Amino acid sequence: MTTGLLPWHSATWNCFQQSLQQGRLPHALLLSGAQGMGKARFARQLAASLLCEQSQADGLACGKCRQCLLLAAGNHPDLRLLVPEEGKTQIGIDAVRELVAGNTLSVGEGAYRVFIIDPADSMGRAAANALLKTLEEPIEGTLIILLSARADRLPVTIRSRCQSLRFSLPTEQEAIAWLECNSQLTPEDAVQLLRLANGAPLRVPALIENGELGRHNRLLKDFVAIATGESSAVSLGEAWLKDHELASLLRYVNSWLAAMIRQKMTHSAEDTFPLLQSLHERLDLELLYRLLDQIHEIQRMSTNNLNPQLALESILLEWGRIANGES
Ligand SMILES: [Zn+2]
Repeated sequence: MTTGLLPWHSATWNCFQQSLQQGRLPHALLLSGAQGMGKARFARQLAASLLCEQSQADGLACGKCRQCLLLAAGNHPDLRLLVPEEGKTQIGIDAVRELVAGNTLSVGEGAYRVFIIDPADSMGRAAANALLKTLEEPIEGTLIILLSARADRLPVTIRSRCQSLRFSLPTEQEAIAWLECNSQLTPEDAVQLLRLANGAPLRVPALIENGELGRHNRLLKDFVAIATGESSAVSLGEAWLKDHELASLLRYVNSWLAAMIRQKMTHSAEDTFPLLQSLHERLDLELLYRLLDQIHEIQRMSTNNLNPQLALESILLEWGRIANGES
């Protein structure tokens, strides 16, 4: 994958560069939006842009100056990245205190210092409070960038002291064009993987890495075989649960039903998975919605009261009935 600006970031990037040129650098930024849209990449590009000695016309770092080389080597003294320690999910108060103390003491290279906290919602209450003090009394030339896919979990006091940049999903066309350009994917695989990634292009590499497309397509083939009567819902359900958690299976079924509903609403085969396209004639929209409701109900139930096999069976049996017009 290339290191340039992601196409769906350009508007936000230009907006930020403009305020920089007008001398309006905020003290803290909150980059929010779902995972896989490149928030971390944007944050690093911003940091590089501030630290670079001769950034280019579009504001991107030159990649060649002393600062850029230090950044590339991963040891620039003016860029600090705060993430949860290995094996932990939270960023602790000590780490925040150390960051903030370092803020006043360290002797950096240039005019700016950048701290990136990722994900910011992994700070516990005490850690967030420690950071809040710095946000209330910002230090000249220091930019704190908070990243979060769940910004609503951040204390309001923190949020209100950050300039907010919200990232929204690129259009499917934009995302697929980028995926085709930056990976060896065929157009068909790019479309499918993007759907599996809920539209977030930067989640796709991880899906490729863990064989998601193959796994998904095998399960989807089974699902279609139930509809055509080639396989039994009960035995497939049993086989699925040997290799998969109920929750992840329900997510798959959920996305297939949603895709079929989309296809029925838009009358466009492009809106669904290729394997499902031929089924849509025999399906009743209302019954699809009902099955979707049934899945949501199971997803809401606590795992203590749930027999995974029975729950999955009931969904797959109902799916077989709907597909065969018996419901
Ligand atoms: Zn540079």
